[in-house]
Amino acid sequence: MTVAKTANPIDMSAYWIPYTPNRYFHQNPKVMESAKGAYYFDNHGRKLFDGLSGLWCSPLGHGDPRIGAAIQKQYETMDYCPAFQMASEATFTLASRIVDMAPAGLDKVFFTNSGSEAVDTALKMAVAYHRCMGNASRFRMIGRERAYHGVGIGGISVGGIVANRKAFANMMMNGVDHLPHTFNLSQMAFSKGQPTWGAHLADELENIVTLHDANTIAAVILEPVQGSTGVLVPPQGYLQKIRDICTKHGILLIFDEVITGFGRLGTNFGADLFGVTPDMIIFAKAITNGVIPMGGVIVRGDIYDAIMAQGGQEQTIEFFHGYTYSGHPIPTAAAHAVLDIFESDNLVNRAKALEPVLENSLHALKGKTGLLDIRNCGLSGAVDLVPIAGKPGLRAMKTLEACIKRGALVRITNDTIAVGPPFISTPAEVEFLVSVLSDAIDDAM
Ligand code: PLP
Repeated sequence: MTVAKTANPIDMSAYWIPYTPNRYFHQNPKVMESAKGAYYFDNHGRKLFDGLSGLWCSPLGHGDPRIGAAIQKQYETMDYCPAFQMASEATFTLASRIVDMAPAGLDKVFFTNSGSEAVDTALKMAVAYHRCMGNASRFRMIGRERAYHGVGIGGISVGGIVANRKAFANMMMNGVDHLPHTFNLSQMAFSKGQPTWGAHLADELENIVTLHDANTIAAVILEPVQGSTGVLVPPQGYLQKIRDICTKHGILLIFDEVITGFGRLGTNFGADLFGVTPDMIIFAKAITNGVIPMGGVIVRGDIYDAIMAQGGQEQTIEFFHGYTYSGHPIPTAAAHAVLDIFESDNLVNRAKALEPVLENSLHALKGKTGLLDIRNCGLSGAVDLVPIAGKPGLRAMKTLEACIKRGALVRITNDTIAVGPPFISTPAEVEFLVSVLSDAIDDAM
């Protein structure tokens, strides 16, 4: 299995490519060679606009020398510090900076290496908190249909994407239930921003509480905007209702902001945009601009306090959880550099300013043949395509390939195409992305 490269063919036989149809890929390889600013360059010498900011993780574009310099400096100063029983000063200051950006009341940070690990961490924290509060019967988790919470056992259990779950049914966590997703084509097709229909779907949480009894439920976990399934935007009022029901029944609310955190919606967190404060926020991706892995959970201070209070003697570990690379100095240095750039280059506001450009150009596609829906929120958007009969996903794959030929990368899931350009994009580049997508949709029809 080789792919012809200008100079040398690449041997593709050993690498099992994640979340990729490997057999199709071997026939239709996509090989990136370098990246700079808002562009990738592939092995055919094509310059490709990065229409999804990597995998939603590189809002500052690629190759910013300020991040590289911070990593290099940290490597020379201290390449690793044990994560258990000790820490580097920069990890403390990073936690404080993240707390300063988060909604009031969320004032502790636990670091992980990925979004999936952060999800498992948050679920464990929820159970530990209730146990420490004398409510050990609260173990159930409520997720949502179509949710993506990574690929750990915890994440696929609370997640709601069937393909991620069906093969692993016997490995799932006990005691998980799911809210319905909020997408309804007949009620909300071509909505700009939040759909007006659907807040009532939050009432289903009351039914789930009645079914299981509140005293068995630890937490509800939701992405404020469901990203990986194709940018499903919450109906107006929906998240506030969920918050109110959780508060009423003493259930913790966890927002998984792995995609929506750090500016993607034009605010620091989705919690800020929607005006709803959860008890924990999960983050990853943009915190290091995707340069090096890092994730984490931002937690309400009294959740931490409750776990400390039940920690036993002072020399005893209070929460038996952590990773060799939690708070690792090198991603920590990268994250500091990223947050410096967010501040100095006013990036959250730049994302906000690009939002209408994306919204207007995407919704101008309405009426094209083969388009079922267009959605957007912040600097993210998606279109649903009519599938090719009997071949789910192939239309979107063909569209992606046409986009690449025309000079842009987009993200596909089933027959949905998502876009989320870097915050450093110009308005003209955002318009270029959508024009490429428009032509590519025609090519694939
Ligand atoms: N949660 C959400 C909302 C995500 O979008 C993702 C990844 O896309 C994850 C969790 C998993 O993150 P990771 O791939 O870093 O484990």
